[in-house]
Amino acid sequence: MSRRFVLLGDPVAHSLSPVLHEAAFGALGEDAEYAAVRVGAAELAEAMRIGVDGGNVTVPHKRRAADLLDVRTEAVRITGACNCFRLEASGQLWGDNTDVEGFRQALHRLPEARLGGRAVLVLGAGGGAAAVVAACIAVGARRVAIVNRSPDRARALARRFAGSGSEVDLVSRGDARREAWDLVVNATSLGLRAADPLPMRLDASRVRAAFDLVYGRDGTAWTRHARESGIPVSDGLEMLIQQAGLSVQRWLDRTPPLEPMRRAVETVLSSAAPPAGRGS
Ligand code: NDP
Repeated sequence: MSRRFVLLGDPVAHSLSPVLHEAAFGALGEDAEYAAVRVGAAELAEAMRIGVDGGNVTVPHKRRAADLLDVRTEAVRITGACNCFRLEASGQLWGDNTDVEGFRQALHRLPEARLGGRAVLVLGAGGGAAAVVAACIAVGARRVAIVNRSPDRARALARRFAGSGSEVDLVSRGDARREAWDLVVNATSLGLRAADPLPMRLDASRVRAAFDLVYGRDGTAWTRHARESGIPVSDGLEMLIQQAGLSVQRWLDRTPPLEPMRRAVETVLSSAAPPAGRGS
């Protein structure tokens, strides 16, 4: 019988996850299907257990999904968010946060962003930012500074990583602009809409590399700004592909076919009328 995997979130219509996973199942010859299902918070628990073998969770349910799990990986425990789950034969709900390792893998493609002993500035304090902070600590960043529109949320995120081995602190917007950073990461939703302002203006004398979690057909307004400023930059597409590949591995225990997955999303992105930017 065909195995069934789902993407649960609200909204989900824009998501490229079905493209990625259909390409993966096709390349692996797996009898499995993947569907995006829009669910409200009240329906999430049932949607993760009834008629499915596993799936992904996206905005705004990653935190709630983490609370619903029976078994949590370290990445879920540390970030408080789950984006990948499977229903075990025992009936237990197992979950991971593949955004953490997905970001880490995507960083490998940005050679300027070697983070051991380095200082990172993270813009934003939501689920995506939590995954970025966790990954930066895992690769040995010396300092991870957070700036967010709502300082309380930034404070809560920094507290979550207290005692982690890296210095995790808050900075003001002014200090963020004045200080020097080895990597600046946009983990806000800014860039999803054409009218959005840039999350932060970058200056090559203070910023060595940049990474935008948002992605688009030709990058994003912020990645274009970074490039024009002479700063090596990546958008979020590779992270999306990597976290999807890791999901495939978690569900099927098989090596993810990343090249067919990459080709499938690049084809869709190059042929679709683009929104300003896309997220997970
Ligand atoms: P959340 O909703 O959890 O967090 C959104 C963040 O953006 C918050 O820090 C919020 O600040 C900030 N923000 C929203 N609007 C504004 C604004 N107008 N001005 C300044 N800050 C703003 O979302 P996620 O963390 O899950 O996702 C963040 C982005 O990263 C999204 O675009 C998402 O699609 C993308 N993403 C991409 C992934 C990938 O694989 N490429 C994976 C995960 C996420 P405040 O706290 O003040 O509300």
